[in-house]
Amino acid sequence: MKYKTGFLYHPFFLRHYTGKDHPEHPYRLKYLYRYIANSHLVKENKITMLKAQPVENLDYILLTHSEHYINLFKEYCNKNNKIFGHYDNVICKKSYDVALFHAYSSISAADLIMNDNFTSIFIAGRPPSHHAGRDYALGFCFINSVAVVANYLIKEWGLNKILIIDVDVHHGNGTQEIFYASNNVFYFSIHEHPSFLFPGTGRFFEIGIKDGLNYTLNCPVIPNIKDKDYIKVLKSNCEKILTLFKPEIILVSAGYDTHERDEISHLGLSTDCITQIYALINSYAIKHCNGKLLLFLEGGYNIDSLCECVHKTLEVISKGGD
Ligand SMILES: [Zn+2]
Repeated sequence: MKYKTGFLYHPFFLRHYTGKDHPEHPYRLKYLYRYIANSHLVKENKITMLKAQPVENLDYILLTHSEHYINLFKEYCNKNNKIFGHYDNVICKKSYDVALFHAYSSISAADLIMNDNFTSIFIAGRPPSHHAGRDYALGFCFINSVAVVANYLIKEWGLNKILIIDVDVHHGNGTQEIFYASNNVFYFSIHEHPSFLFPGTGRFFEIGIKDGLNYTLNCPVIPNIKDKDYIKVLKSNCEKILTLFKPEIILVSAGYDTHERDEISHLGLSTDCITQIYALINSYAIKHCNGKLLLFLEGGYNIDSLCECVHKTLEVISKGGD
């Protein structure tokens, strides 16, 4: 099988302006794009740079978010409000358009994978996804693009086994909530323990309800965990899920705020450890899902470690099964 990796970006993602002192500022993505575009991965044709080509259809967003919430978000941006919901959620006039553009671009990336044009795509978009719930914005997230893509794949591609692996340092409360009663989507999150970190959810006993019972798995880990212990938790749980659930595709909430130089959290993982996370996830996609892997950039607030680790991620996933 031939493996092909894409890196999806568009300068429009920078138009969601949060201010230079906000952790989720546009510069993180601007520098990341520059770093990757100038890397050997592009020069040696290891990855393909993709310019986002949004599939615009509000119906796809409404599979995940309520119409009331979407209209309210639009109205807040149109009125040039500075905050939407929680104080963390800084917005500007363009935020609604950019958040939708991110979700629509992610759908196009999913199509590229489902049509076998690519095996893996890294979506370098913003604002991030995983804290946004059906009816609320939280933690810099407004539209949950990961959830939008999962619901799109179920509706338009007839998939019924989608695995979401969330390796951001924060628990993805929004993604969990959206699929809490679903057995089509397995949500697995490994994150810093909610007693120490925002948003305060993601404890062991949160395991889903109704049809979704046991389709949510949370592995909170303690601050300053050793690299090898983190990998052990990730590996043993992923392997258990893959054997039982047998996913058709893996979506990843790819947060890089677990890094030791990222001041937003306290896990302290090394670059080597983070590289290993993605090498493992890639090997699972190859073994269980014909390589189908879609990664969504979530957090990662130290620009140096973000660039370094995304580069390492692309290096390992573009090697395919070698
Ligand atoms: Zn995060």
